[in-house]
Amino acid sequence: MYNPKSEEAGEFISCQEILDTLDYARRVKDDMSVVNGILEKARETKGLTHREASVLLACNNEDKVNEIFDLAFDIKQQFYGNRIVLFAPLYLSNYCVNGCLYCPYHHGSDIPRKKLSQDEIRAETIALQNMGHKRLAVEAGEDPVNNPIEYILESLQTIYGVRHKNGAIRRVNVNIAATTVENYRKLHDAGIGTYILFQETYDRAGYEELHPSGPKHNYAYHTEAMDRAMRGDIDDVGLGVLFGLENYACEFAGLLMHAEHLEASFGVGPHTISVPRVKPAQGVDPASFDGGVSDELFAKIAACIRIAVPYTGMIISTREGQSVREKLLRLGVSQISGASRTSVGGYVENPEEDTRQFEVSDTRTLDEVIKWLIDLDYVPSFCTACYRAGRTGDRFMELCKSKQILNCCHPNALMTLKEYLMDYAAPQTLGAGEKLIEREIGAIPKEKVRDLVRKNLVNIQNGQRDFRL
Ligand code: SAM
Repeated sequence: MYNPKSEEAGEFISCQEILDTLDYARRVKDDMSVVNGILEKARETKGLTHREASVLLACNNEDKVNEIFDLAFDIKQQFYGNRIVLFAPLYLSNYCVNGCLYCPYHHGSDIPRKKLSQDEIRAETIALQNMGHKRLAVEAGEDPVNNPIEYILESLQTIYGVRHKNGAIRRVNVNIAATTVENYRKLHDAGIGTYILFQETYDRAGYEELHPSGPKHNYAYHTEAMDRAMRGDIDDVGLGVLFGLENYACEFAGLLMHAEHLEASFGVGPHTISVPRVKPAQGVDPASFDGGVSDELFAKIAACIRIAVPYTGMIISTREGQSVREKLLRLGVSQISGASRTSVGGYVENPEEDTRQFEVSDTRTLDEVIKWLIDLDYVPSFCTACYRAGRTGDRFMELCKSKQILNCCHPNALMTLKEYLMDYAAPQTLGAGEKLIEREIGAIPKEKVRDLVRKNLVNIQNGQRDFRL
């Protein structure tokens, strides 16, 4: 449980403030004048404070909950339209020196250890390119001997260097353990997209129990990682909590305080927020943790994050099955993974049950996921243009907050979808996708841009690739 006494000087996510926030939310959640005032502010789409958002999360009035859901959908449409960005994780190594109790990769577990060679990474990258992926999230355990930063950097170079048929990985996000400013700068110089690190839990005492050994035991070092990443010039960072470990309301307030801290300190909030829930894994039973979150509550958490941080990209992985993903797409999620393997080497070999980090609930192929999105009237996007055009950090935020990002993202989504359809789609997906593109071109407001997109679509049809605005 939270213990304000465990707070240390310099900690920017105050345990006491989290407790006070929950207390405040409990006191006012049934006062409709307060709730309505917060919803009114939320409609201005400038976001909410952690206290305001916590009141919405605590409010159980059915009408208000429906209003929250509708507003989350509306805000998502305003900032991100109906596009859904696709990515896949690539596990490089499951060697790990940390003792995380929820993770089967923890030090001392008897899971088979595996670290990919550069040739194996090349083969995994080709397998991912052959599905149509353009954006990856690289994952590795923390192990200074087996997975030093040089290994990660070399792997990035390998991934970016693979060109197979029309395939290319154009953006690699990185999810590795908290590290030094110097190492973050090396990752930045290697051309990574977003640096992602899940806080796991903002309950400091709970965090220390859940991470009994290894460098990750150090709560302050882990929590301050994004500050160091920013100082190392990485200006796109991705936050996340592993829901299911500790009290969700505390996690929610802590997550928003973290976002506020980044915005106040660096002028740039989180590029993305992920909403993973702890899943069964070898030797891991989610029921053994304190913070189980039902599907209904999970949906409300996602909607409240969308309302509180309208500009952030929201990510849901294949930890969740089709129906939960479908529900959350409506409530603010803007990025999803597809056809993921959470084992090391899993894209080339048959999924190796015994080295999986956690069980995947959505086991569909990428093409099935794309067809599903199209049928739901979403535009699947393989766009990676912003970061390649230098629209990162505050430049991205400025465009995003003024809702201008739509003007380039929508055309880019259509052009990258067209590439996918030409190179990888099954006939049915191709047919549905072509119709979707034709419909969506009409939604591009500027005639000049519409004409350019039409021209580029013909060029893509004729074999050219990689157009972007
Ligand atoms: N090793 C890196 C670190 O220490 O931050 C991150 C890579 S790890 C492969 C990615 C994330 O998977 C972790 O941050 C954790 O939140 C999540 N994870 C671990 N075990 C899980 C489980 N049983 N169910 C769902 N997610 C899990």
